[in-house]
Amino acid sequence: MKNNIKEDNIFCLGIESTAHTFGCSVIQFDLFKKKGKIISESRTVYKPPDGAGIHPREASRHHLDKSPNILREVLIQANLKPKEIDLISYSAGPGLGPCLRVGAVIARALSSFYNIPLIPVNHALGHIELGMMLTECRDPLVLLVSGGHTMVLAFSNKKWRVFGETQDITIGQLLDQFGRFLGFASPCGNKIEKYASQSSKKYYHLPYIVKGNDVSFSGILTAAKKLIENKYDKFDICFSLQETAFAMLTEVVERALAFTEKKEVLIVGGVSANNRLSTMLKIASKRQKATLYTCPLHFSGDNGAQIAWTAICEKVASGRAVKVQNALINQSWRLDKVEVNWR
Ligand code: AMP
Ligand code: MG
Repeated sequence: MKNNIKEDNIFCLGIESTAHTFGCSVIQFDLFKKKGKIISESRTVYKPPDGAGIHPREASRHHLDKSPNILREVLIQANLKPKEIDLISYSAGPGLGPCLRVGAVIARALSSFYNIPLIPVNHALGHIELGMMLTECRDPLVLLVSGGHTMVLAFSNKKWRVFGETQDITIGQLLDQFGRFLGFASPCGNKIEKYASQSSKKYYHLPYIVKGNDVSFSGILTAAKKLIENKYDKFDICFSLQETAFAMLTEVVERALAFTEKKEVLIVGGVSANNRLSTMLKIASKRQKATLYTCPLHFSGDNGAQIAWTAICEKVASGRAVKVQNALINQSWRLDKVEVNWR
């Protein structure tokens, strides 16, 4: 590696392991241009048996097994030796304890062996920061929709403030739990989307529950399962489930948009891959004279780049890193508790 490249750039390794995905990525940050570039990225997703949910211990074993290859792959792709990394980051929560521990242990070991600064990152913040970096939006209302989150957020005074969230299961859990009931392997959102697109578009009534600006999806799950048990058409049920759940999300996003008067909407998290959801949000955003940005498909689900990029933002803004003995995990680390120093 040429010296000037090394001196003018920060190379940050990000490790993601909150739930089903083990992923790593290296981001190169140009200190003069203040621009980041994903120079390598690789991930592997734990697949539970068909019809079963994610088992934290099994998923963590998967992550442990696959981690050496994924790590090697991203370093080779980035053309870097471990000691040439300037910053190591890992997702410290929220997530499943056994899975989080795998990423944290690898990050601590690399950091202490090679004497590289270490930064723990909030996983949900990572989705937003990477989404903003890739779409170049500046001050969005964010809809974070994933396996672990359903939240509407806007940034104000150093923190992402919650303008609405789920009162029970997340949208990802609704899709995955219903999909597993149909016999699919998790994650199931894309399979439900496919079934919905094959439907005759006959709508079955499902509980539409919006309370204030919060949503509740568990009633939809129970009612949709009952329809399956009563042998109604599974394609039409998938269509109805998407229409109902996504209309609820669109309603709360539109109300938050009208309230905050933001001119940008950003969808991030694995469920942002869904075309029907983005179509509905595009219509609502247009009505409120806002532009919709969607995280590029490849980076909508969990990945190491979201962690590496957030760590770079933190390091450049505050210079903060943690000692290895303080590099902990927090399974229920809420996004609205994180102080953001760079906005
Ligand atoms: P994440 O936790 O961010 O990795 O997102 C995973 C969630 O995204 C899972 O609940 C998936 O079922 C969901 N997902 C992935 N692709 C789609 C899709 N095309 N439509 C809806 N949900 C999806
Ligand atoms: Mg996620």
